[in-house]
Amino acid sequence: MNEPLLNEKHLQLKAQVREFAENEIRPLAAELDEHSMFSTELTRKMFEMGLLRINLPEEYGGMGMDTLSYIVAVEELARVDGSQAATVAAHNSLGIAPIYNYGTEEQKRKFLPMLTTGQKLWAFGLTEPNAGSDSNNTETTAELENGQWVINGQKIYITNVSSPMSGGITVQVVTGNPGGGRKELSVILVERDTPGYSVETIMSKMMWRAADTGKLFLDHVKVPQENLLGEKGQGAKIMLATLDGGRLSIAAMGLGLAQGAFEMAMEYASKRIQFGKPIRSFQINSFKLADMATKIELARNLLYKACWLKDQNLPFGKEAAMAKLYTSEISGEVANDALQIYGAHGLMKENPIERFYRDQRILEIGEGTSEILRLVIARKLGIR
Ligand SMILES: Cc1cc2nc3c(=O)[nH]c(=O)nc-3n(C[C@H](O)[C@H](O)[C@H](O)COP(=O)(O)OP(=O)(O)OC[C@H]3O[C@@H](n4cnc5c(N)ncnc54)[C@H](O)[C@@H]3O)c2cc1C
Repeated sequence: MNEPLLNEKHLQLKAQVREFAENEIRPLAAELDEHSMFSTELTRKMFEMGLLRINLPEEYGGMGMDTLSYIVAVEELARVDGSQAATVAAHNSLGIAPIYNYGTEEQKRKFLPMLTTGQKLWAFGLTEPNAGSDSNNTETTAELENGQWVINGQKIYITNVSSPMSGGITVQVVTGNPGGGRKELSVILVERDTPGYSVETIMSKMMWRAADTGKLFLDHVKVPQENLLGEKGQGAKIMLATLDGGRLSIAAMGLGLAQGAFEMAMEYASKRIQFGKPIRSFQINSFKLADMATKIELARNLLYKACWLKDQNLPFGKEAAMAKLYTSEISGEVANDALQIYGAHGLMKENPIERFYRDQRILEIGEGTSEILRLVIARKLGIR
């Protein structure tokens, strides 16, 4: 692999994850997608490889690897299957990260072991039926009663919330109304086995059909006061900062998906003969492949730079938003062009490009739609 931005350790990990994805995931991906099946077995294997604790320091049971390692791993999974990449990305970026970044020492010692060696997945509950892009419109409430938070409300479209491996969730809740129509937002950790906590798996999805997406219902769920993450009223800050990191992993999914689609298109264009020649020798197809490769190269440079900034503890929010926006959009263009190169064969269920084409669509919606990402970038440029 010729990738000058990666060091020996990154390259080793990339090769290891590629081997796993090729040997263990690829043979199952189509069937899991067809039957909308979350695979406990594959998730266990990914826990065993350390992929579900990759970016967490070793003192908390993590692999202690840098952001770029994590991103390279997600990219390699997405090169084969978006669903497995989604399980890993959501757990690391949205599950573990806020607990590690904002948790007290007691909270880290209590929750992180179950999410590393305990092989439980942790979810992130921001979205609600009436609070999507407008996440400040959260309606789920938490009231403090006798040293316990009593939580009522619901969350929707939540990754890793409903499979048997899900251990709980970090939820944004309303803890007060300071006036002027504003809501005081806070973040609370809720374990799955708490009474009043129930989930429903969303089965009929267009994409990520082998990843777990669910609804969460919280009906007078009582958790200890100490489960508040960060300060009361800091909810939006914690959740939005968590999304900055999450956007790197969505970008990695876009990059991996584009890479996988490009490789498939290259291979097919070389072997499909029409008019007595491989179709890649028609200039329009060779230019298409050249454009795909150029977009992937640019996306990779942008994403790796954002990871580098994060690893240097430098501000990276703008670059993460740009990488997420650009990579998710070019992955759509690349998947579309790849499918076009396959002709009718690309539209058939037996061809994985059809799954890539569907899996790509979420990347322009989850963790900030392309419209909201443009708003975020404009604000980071100082435009109000
Ligand atoms: C498979 C899947 C997994 C997900 N996982 C999670 C998860 O783990 N945790 C979680 O909290 N959420 C999760 N989500 C939810 C996801 O983050 C939201 O779908 C996303 O934030 C957009 O919200 P919405 O779908 O309600 O769209 P809306 O906010 O209703 O937007 C609808 C349309 O209006 C546009 N729009 C909205 N506001 C503006 C504006 N101000 N300016 C211009 N255009 C605007 C949007 O760009 C979009 O095109 C998941 C979603 C899916 C599909």
